[in-house]
Amino acid sequence: MPDKPKYYLTTPIYYTNGLPHIGHTYSTIVCDTIRRYKRMRGYDVVMTTGTDEHGVNVERSAKKAGVPESEFVAKMAAEWRALWDELGVQGDEFIRTTDLKHAHTVQWLFKQFRDNGFVYPGHYTGQYCIYDNAYVDVKPGENCPDCGRPTETVTEANFYFKLSAFQKPLLDWYVKHPDFIQPEARRNEVLSFVEGGLRDLSITRTSVRWGIPVPGEEPHVFYVWFDALTAYLSAVGGPQYEKTGFWPADLHLVGKEIIRFHAVYWPAFLMAAGLPLPKQVWAHGWLLMDSAKMSKSLGNVVRPRPIVHVLGMDALRYYLLRETVFGQDGNFSYDALVQRYNSDLANGLGNLASRTAAMIEKNSGGKIPKPAAFQPQDTALATKAQEAIGEVLEQYDKLGFSLALEEIWSLIAATDKYLTTEHPWSLGESEADQQRRATILWTTAEVLRIATILTHPVLPESTTKVWSLLGQRGQPASVALDGLRWGQLAAGTSLGKSQPLFPRIEKAEAIERMEAMEKEAQNAPSPVTAPAIPSAPAAGSAAAAAASQATPEKIGIEDFAKVEMRVGQIKTAERIVGADKLLKLTVDIGTEIRQICAGIAQFYEPEKLIGRKVAVVVNLAPRKLRGVESNGMIVAASVGPEGRPVLAGFPDEDVEIGARLK
Ligand SMILES: [Zn+2]
Repeated sequence: MPDKPKYYLTTPIYYTNGLPHIGHTYSTIVCDTIRRYKRMRGYDVVMTTGTDEHGVNVERSAKKAGVPESEFVAKMAAEWRALWDELGVQGDEFIRTTDLKHAHTVQWLFKQFRDNGFVYPGHYTGQYCIYDNAYVDVKPGENCPDCGRPTETVTEANFYFKLSAFQKPLLDWYVKHPDFIQPEARRNEVLSFVEGGLRDLSITRTSVRWGIPVPGEEPHVFYVWFDALTAYLSAVGGPQYEKTGFWPADLHLVGKEIIRFHAVYWPAFLMAAGLPLPKQVWAHGWLLMDSAKMSKSLGNVVRPRPIVHVLGMDALRYYLLRETVFGQDGNFSYDALVQRYNSDLANGLGNLASRTAAMIEKNSGGKIPKPAAFQPQDTALATKAQEAIGEVLEQYDKLGFSLALEEIWSLIAATDKYLTTEHPWSLGESEADQQRRATILWTTAEVLRIATILTHPVLPESTTKVWSLLGQRGQPASVALDGLRWGQLAAGTSLGKSQPLFPRIEKAEAIERMEAMEKEAQNAPSPVTAPAIPSAPAAGSAAAAAASQATPEKIGIEDFAKVEMRVGQIKTAERIVGADKLLKLTVDIGTEIRQICAGIAQFYEPEKLIGRKVAVVVNLAPRKLRGVESNGMIVAASVGPEGRPVLAGFPDEDVEIGARLK
């Protein structure tokens, strides 16, 4: 068997001074989607992401947090990693620029420059922006032209890289490889920058301590950008890159603000060392919030976690790829996000999947029916599906995610319309009617199968559920896209278990919850100075908290009397979308009905709780759990090593609602 073709792509190596917001999430999700897509096209793919952990900014933040730099960056890197896991991102390499193998690669690359005569010692005085880690072309006292923050005058001894020597080789390269920089607007921008002349670049620092040392030249450390860019190479073998076969990279995916580093400095570095150049640098646009770039100082940052908790990771992935034309700036809004969720996911794909399964369940005993003679309207839908396959693959190849998804959703809409016109539910029980119904249901299920496979790179979690609902074996990820054709759905296949896909959600409530969680996150202390924010309400839930409160010392009766506990009766109970462990309850406590959240969802079926009498702490200050107001606490025992909650109750006697526990 011939070797699979190799494909290597990278996200930016993110600066660890802060935590990920929706912009970083966007770059990473795009890469993850490409990675999944390329695998389904038969490539052996490696995707690298990671954290850029050196520089004066980290040095200062660690000092402020009162911890050593190594501890600071370790905790930040762990946070980044954890978030990518929650978003279903399957990075193959997570490189930290504090990794030893990376340091060796940086030092090795510098030695190549030196051996080839592209490095010389000098001094530099200039205005430096510590936020962008770059010298900027302004006068002392002026702010950074890129981020608007104050600059500092810095003079230091350093080593220069002869960037000026690469003006012509770079311009030649751009001409010879017209696709090297994408999209077109960015290419033009880079071209005119290089045509304007290149100044040599200082690639070491003596004013910074926290960095990779320049061997034999202490106290020089490497400039963070030189350090970070090299991570793309160190992730796939460094000096031994030929052994892994993954260099040069096929794609560096970056935000447009860092295009110059990737399309000018990085290829010049590689040329200086005699290494192959990456095939393409793609710069995407920004996600704007009310037409402004998100930034901490403007207070308009949006974090991914609240969205994932309320709507699920697939909803965020879908929105980011569907709403914005890749390469251009896009606008982020919670309103549009929930709108898309309800219209495209809940009412679109989710609804088609559940109604198809329900009809097959009802009419053909849960087995995919065998189609009879096809009518022109069936064939028309089949043709549309077959054409969609070609169109969608073409769009994915061009990173045209929005158009690819539009095409798939147009197929879903056509199928909804087909069901409305063919109305299989109103057919009778005659032989002809049964055959007609079987044909319609098979056709619908076949569209669903194709749409599921085509959407899988974007919606990995939910399409896996639809795949097993359709009774298909294995994972959608292992389906070869090149072999996908109309007509492959086998009749007689038994449907799998139905799982919730995209429960409809009330827009105002969803937005309120996401915004409340965003506010909570903004006010939370940094993960470095405080225990990490739990990603799920483990002990944060009411029952678990009540059960696990330790009593280190004895208390007087007057302290106990401060806790007002009463008998309450559960009136309603429902699951909370995006919070696996929590139930939202309404509880009658005699004087009023309260809304209370309890962390018991994994052990109690909501419908079985209705009417049950429980012990309630009624004078607890109201608080929000996962953005949902909780006014009181249900008392439960915590049982076993995993702290399974068991509700306290009153089985022996019919106690009055509102009675006080003493
Ligand atoms: Zn700046």
